[in-house]
Amino acid sequence: TAAPAPSGPRPVRAARGTTLTARSWATEAPLRMLQNNLDPENAENPDALVVYGGTGKAARDWPSFDAICRELTDLRQDETLLVQSGRPVGVLRTHEWAPRVLIANSNLVGDWATWPEFRRLEAMGLTMYGQMTAGSWIYIGSQGIVQGTYETFAAVADKRFGGTLAGTLTLTAGLGGMGGAQPLAVTMNGGVALCIDCDPVRAQRRVQTRYLDVLADSLDEAVDLALTAKRDRRAVSIGVIGNAAEMVPLLLARGVEIDIVTDQTSAHDPLAYLPVGIDLADWHDYAQAKPDEFTDRSRDSMAAHVEAMVGFQDAGAEVFDYGNSIRGEALLAGYERSFDFPGFVPAYIRPLFCEGKGPFRWAALSGDPKDIHATDRAVIDMFPDNDKLQRWMRMAPERIAFQGLPARICWLGMGERDQAGLRFNEMVASGELSAPVVIGRDHLDSGSVASPYRETESMADGSDAIADWPLLNALVNTASGASWVSIHHGGGVGIGRSIHAGQVCLADGTPLAAEKLARVLTNDPAMGVLRHVDAGYPEAQAAAERTGVVIPMDPA
Ligand code: NAD
Repeated sequence: TAAPAPSGPRPVRAARGTTLTARSWATEAPLRMLQNNLDPENAENPDALVVYGGTGKAARDWPSFDAICRELTDLRQDETLLVQSGRPVGVLRTHEWAPRVLIANSNLVGDWATWPEFRRLEAMGLTMYGQMTAGSWIYIGSQGIVQGTYETFAAVADKRFGGTLAGTLTLTAGLGGMGGAQPLAVTMNGGVALCIDCDPVRAQRRVQTRYLDVLADSLDEAVDLALTAKRDRRAVSIGVIGNAAEMVPLLLARGVEIDIVTDQTSAHDPLAYLPVGIDLADWHDYAQAKPDEFTDRSRDSMAAHVEAMVGFQDAGAEVFDYGNSIRGEALLAGYERSFDFPGFVPAYIRPLFCEGKGPFRWAALSGDPKDIHATDRAVIDMFPDNDKLQRWMRMAPERIAFQGLPARICWLGMGERDQAGLRFNEMVASGELSAPVVIGRDHLDSGSVASPYRETESMADGSDAIADWPLLNALVNTASGASWVSIHHGGGVGIGRSIHAGQVCLADGTPLAAEKLARVLTNDPAMGVLRHVDAGYPEAQAAAERTGVVIPMDPA
């Protein structure tokens, strides 16, 4: 017999169709989803097993990847595979209601939870950075960020503009990997977006992928186009090339009628924010040669940028920080009013979290886009009164290209997720879908993350850093019948700053799957409701009463 091929980088793609490579769909599902995370259509750097988000990986190294695939192929319905930071470490006898895979990624004991210590251990081959959906095998490409951004702007519309952005003008900057979703999300909500980026290549890429409608030649032209579209209530996005730290103050001084202001330049890293007075061409050499001097200059520019954002707020605009730490950096430069405007979670997303709402997603294991289109129609039929959802579900198939296995995301809450999951399971049973689907979510969800700079910023009771909730969430999903469950540390905002949990469950059309789906897709969002009841949010209390979540004690 031939010697086994050496384990190393190669293109990975999940199997399609209904022929199983594993013993059952219960193990075929995690196998295909692991492989799908590393599909070159999804992974940013598949050779290094990196899926997205800096160094977020799906498996620790190639031998570990091969061993996980081998174990999943052979795993029985009463066995559970344990994965420790991307490496399979054991197969234990359990039972058919138990998850087939249990995952723990990047966890460190509190005092050791720093980037330097993490990197030291990673270099020794003892851990990996799991990010959120990278190490828990439920990444679906850029659809996730588009939908999250859409949902944020929809919440802005609800709060201030009667449920639509029609007739409003949003000013933002940053047309990079994540920030590039902003123009599309604003126009999907009916509004006009004026988007600044200093790098023409980034802006052009957004035009090519149809995320940005037009690129203006000058700020004057951009403002003309934007104000005309605003007056005509046309949804258009306009890009302009320039430095936000110059252009945002200029637009304020000119008194341009802007309704909403935010920013997604990569301000979280001062070396990735271009200071005023430095040419694009000199940026990276300068940052590398003189990082301290560059940092001082970029923080000064961020202070000017944030001061203008506060100016817009003083003039009556809706202004928010979009999770890039620009307020913190401007404060370091000495601008004292930096935190005058809020972060996006406390401002818009928390009311949704209170109802157990968050990013629900599913993927077709068949690989057939027709399966997702059938589920799209089912969701549209199931929730006819949810306008935001209807708008998203009708536009997403037109505007979003599938990456890897076809998938869909939409925000659903407590009482809705189980309904959708059970319907999908029926569709598998009846043959309306050609193969099973998996149903999961981001870890950025209502009851599954503790992250004081983002999802749990400014909790009403001050419980921002309490991390018992995501751990309870993982235990609850394990106890309720999820197919794979994961506990991670450091996703989104970095090592030391977050703890979060994920779950994925299988709809294979069987009565057992229906029993599990009914429990997991009720209990998982229920964690969000009860976590926010405990923190004292009346909206969560109302959601608990409406959906029958039992709360043993009144909040302290
Ligand atoms: P990216 O590095 O891909 O893009 C950043 C863009 O900003 C680049 O196109 C760059 O040219 C531009 N830029 C930098 N300095 C500028 C300046 N002075 N003026 C104009 N343009 C400038 O980053 P990304 O992946 O798009 O993420 C952007 C930021 O948003 C990051 O800080 C990230 O952490 C944050 N983020 C937050 C959330 C969230 O909380 N919801 C989600 C995703 C990303």
